[in-house]
Amino acid sequence: MIENRAMGRTGDSASILGFGCMRLPLNGPKPTDIDLELSTAMLRSAIDRGVSYVDTAYVYHSSGDKDAPGESEAFLGKALKDGYREKVRVATKLPLWHVNSRADMDKYLDRQLKILDVGRIDYYLAHGLGAKSWPRMRELGLTGFFEEAVKDGRIRFPSFSFHDDYPVFEDILKGFDWALALVQYNYLDEEYQAGTGGVRLARDRGVAIAVMEPLRGGFLVRHLPEEDVAMLRRIRPDWSMAAWAFNWLWSRPGVSVVLSGMSDMAQVDDNVRSAQAYRDGIFGEAETKAIAEVVSHFKSRIKVDCTACGYCMPCEEGVDIPLNLSFYNQFHLFEAEEAKERCRFVYNFSVPRSDQATGCVDCGKCVEKCPQHIPIPEYLKKTAELYATAWRGLPEDRLGSRSPFAGSSWCRRGLKARPRASEGAGLRLRKARAGCGGRSGPEALEGSGRRPWKARASVRGRPGH
Ligand code: SF4
Ligand code: SF4
Repeated sequence: MIENRAMGRTGDSASILGFGCMRLPLNGPKPTDIDLELSTAMLRSAIDRGVSYVDTAYVYHSSGDKDAPGESEAFLGKALKDGYREKVRVATKLPLWHVNSRADMDKYLDRQLKILDVGRIDYYLAHGLGAKSWPRMRELGLTGFFEEAVKDGRIRFPSFSFHDDYPVFEDILKGFDWALALVQYNYLDEEYQAGTGGVRLARDRGVAIAVMEPLRGGFLVRHLPEEDVAMLRRIRPDWSMAAWAFNWLWSRPGVSVVLSGMSDMAQVDDNVRSAQAYRDGIFGEAETKAIAEVVSHFKSRIKVDCTACGYCMPCEEGVDIPLNLSFYNQFHLFEAEEAKERCRFVYNFSVPRSDQATGCVDCGKCVEKCPQHIPIPEYLKKTAELYATAWRGLPEDRLGSRSPFAGSSWCRRGLKARPRASEGAGLRLRKARAGCGGRSGPEALEGSGRRPWKARASVRGRPGH
């Protein structure tokens, strides 16, 4: 069977492998056209072998129509008939971008209960809570809504999913009595978004951590450099590339459940096998060293040594310099055209046009402020050339929308270690060395009334809202 882990301080527990219902097999090109027979067989087979946590969302497998639910919840409702509902924890998400009032929260929850055809949702997540949505939702009464929904039995555990930076994560985590946080985490993204610091903080506060994108959208399986695959195979011939990523995660303190959006039965079999084989101590010194080597190979592909310190900001033209440089680096991480295409998609989907590299007028003001002496305009020009064409599959009205369900914002910050709340001393030192003793970068904007440089990326550990 599969190990069950405590879900923080909830008193609940679930399997270390969770079934994500966002990449179900399809009958055709439409994301709504789920292959119900195969998907049901996959889900039930996973549950029969010990998977006890399933995750979906209002928008998964959506047609893209505004406000229309996706098909994933409806699928799950049917697939959990015949006694399967009782064997699992069901997690789904409130689509925050549709919520404009407290009444909307109730409306969506009631609608989702109906679509899922369940009496109660176990883990109900605010979908994509971040620097912008958190204060807005708090104002609309999100925390009171959660408390009431727990009281009246519609949900068991108030939770949230997260696609923003660490300081924002800390603020949200400390702002309510959460049961679970769903974060992106994998061996390549240890310092990305909430990162290891966030996982640790959640553990200290008794909040369960569920992990999404454990394989970075499958890239850690499909696009690992051949020499790395060969090296990993030499060390553990019995582990698949997915097993490496899962075992790394399961051995991280604080991780309760790792979600995998499985798309065929072979993936279910492989993942279930890995979960069943997992034991404490399985990820030893040799394995840790091997993954460090893989990560260092990836890092060697980084082209611009931007630390995301933000001292070059703000740009008077509105360009988000560190974000664009991060995308420039991301573009070079994977060789495969599929990965590059995904980068283009994420960039055009999530970065507002006003922040994109095309806005640079080569004034050079940022260059003098950069402690790394990066020829910023030169790299922004290259970034614009790589990215600034509308991604071909994207409708114009979705461009730069920063959709919280882009699901692929993994591209946004990248591998470079970002300044974190816990790095105050190091930052101060760097700043002193760089001669930036006064207020500069993100700090210079505080209280200035000027357009904040993505307050979520504040280096001072204070989300800007
Ligand atoms: S060189 Fe470009 S990015 Fe730098 S401050 Fe000027 S316009 Fe902004
Ligand atoms: S100042 Fe230099 S290192 Fe810092 S964010 Fe700007 S470009 Fe990157």
